Amino acid sequence: MSGESANPARNLRRARVERIFDHAPGIRSLFLRLAGGQRLRFVPGQFISIAIPLEDETRTRAYSIASAAQDGEMIEICFNRVPQGRGVAWLFERRVGDTLDFIGPFGVFTMERAPEVETVLIAEGTAIAPIRPMLQMTARAGSHAPTVLLYAAQSPEQILYRAELEQFAARDPNLRIEALVVPGADSAALYERLARETQARWIAADSVRSRRFYICGVGKGVLRLRDLLRGAGYERRSVRYEQW
Ligand SMILES: Cc1cc2nc3c(=O)[nH]c(=O)nc-3n(C[C@H](O)[C@H](O)[C@H](O)COP(=O)(O)OP(=O)(O)OC[C@H]3O[C@@H](n4cnc5c(N)ncnc54)[C@H](O)[C@@H]3O)c2cc1C
Repeated sequence: MSGESANPARNLRRARVERIFDHAPGIRSLFLRLAGGQRLRFVPGQFISIAIPLEDETRTRAYSIASAAQDGEMIEICFNRVPQGRGVAWLFERRVGDTLDFIGPFGVFTMERAPEVETVLIAEGTAIAPIRPMLQMTARAGSHAPTVLLYAAQSPEQILYRAELEQFAARDPNLRIEALVVPGADSAALYERLARETQARWIAADSVRSRRFYICGVGKGVLRLRDLLRGAGYERRSVRYEQW
């Protein structure tokens, strides 16, 4: 028996920073090992809530689990600096050997099994984090429905996990990975581009409305994509999204 309460998500957990990886300037992953040899059971797409003790307040901030669901002993979170973002600045100050406290996993932006209907995943920058475990699960599945990732960023170095993603696609004819780099675009321009792609490929091109969508990103652009798809006749439950 583990001695956990009936609701493990409520338990405060402690983890040690085992490794730090810088993807690019201002974009980092922390690899967190759970204390006491525990494993975190989670569904691809879920996040943890980290307690961030600042001088004047303790913040709780959500970070998606970016690593594969079967690697529960050591989980990865991936994040970027945010202007005036004091919470994430604290995360950037963590060093190997430091500990942090969190609760979770939480979240309903989840993929329980590899896609059984055509599925489109849309992400930008670090918002690939919850989608990566979904793709890892899909790539491992024996068979699945056609699945495409449309992954946007402002520069090539902000396309994270590129080699891994390309390897998935090279081995799996039903999995397509498309990087959409829009140099110099601000968030509005990036989502404008994503909206145009979405309109052309999954709305105007045919009348199929049985596709599933998973959209993750920062700000109102995510809601715009959601509304575009719903307005075009996709069911509410077919358009899943997470807005940071
Ligand atoms: C379910 C969920 C999962 C999340 N997972 C991740 C994750 O895996 N990696 C990650 O970097 N962030 C993630 N976030 C965002 C994260 O929780 C924090 O909001 C972010 O790190 C900024 O916190 P802060 O306290 O430093 O800044 P705050 O002072 O709280 O500033 C928040 C502002 O920054 C914007 N913002 C939030 N995230 C970003 C970002 N990544 N880039 C640019 N602007 C942003 C918000 O829209 C808001 O306007 C997630 C948020 C949610 C709700």
